[in-house]
Amino acid sequence: MLGPPGAGKGTQAERLAKVRALPKISTGDILREAVQAGTDLGLAAKVTMEAGNLIGDDVMIGIVLERLDRDDARPGFVLDGFPRTVVQAAALDGMVDGRGPLVVLDIVVPEEVLVRRLATRRICSRCGVNAAVEWTGDCQKCGGPLVARIDDSVDIVRERLKIYQRQTKPLVDYYSTRSTFRSIDGNQPPDTVTGRIDAILAEICGSAT
Ligand code: AMP
Repeated sequence: MLGPPGAGKGTQAERLAKVRALPKISTGDILREAVQAGTDLGLAAKVTMEAGNLIGDDVMIGIVLERLDRDDARPGFVLDGFPRTVVQAAALDGMVDGRGPLVVLDIVVPEEVLVRRLATRRICSRCGVNAAVEWTGDCQKCGGPLVARIDDSVDIVRERLKIYQRQTKPLVDYYSTRSTFRSIDGNQPPDTVTGRIDAILAEICGSAT
């Protein structure tokens, strides 16, 4: 799942993973959990993440390599937030070699809409889940308090969007000539985007049921 911060990758990845009964692997979630747990990875990643910068390719590739090797990812997986650089994309090609089609969905949303969305986004401070827009009060999964993400503040968002343009947007060129690449208009209601994704997956991989 490609796209800038705020494009809806997390929401759509969650839904797709559920419908297809596959693990959703979000590198941002893995890193945030590490930060909360105070592991070596978390301690090393915290400052970089809060500044909106990317973690090094070697670290990220190591995390994903290990995760894709687990049994639950054998039938397939939904990646959210990885790859984010051409180096990561090349490594991913190596990891999925012989494992079936790599479907690449690029969710496209205008920058003003992204900035607006991120300013109002909330996550659970306890379990880290993204709050759905209709949630009022606390997290509906674990009851934890909802908070803004530190890296969703306006200045950091601008920085993340610059980094996206510089380092992640080139992935569109990297993938766009492949028959399994699709661009999706993400400036539509989430259910419409989900419907489009389901149709693409049905076309490339067969229907979910
Ligand atoms: P996300 O939740 O996907 O927006 O990720 C939050 C932050 O985690 C990013 O701004 C980066 O600092 C870091 N991060 C997540 N995935 C990657 C990745 N594939 N490569 C480098 N840094 C990443």
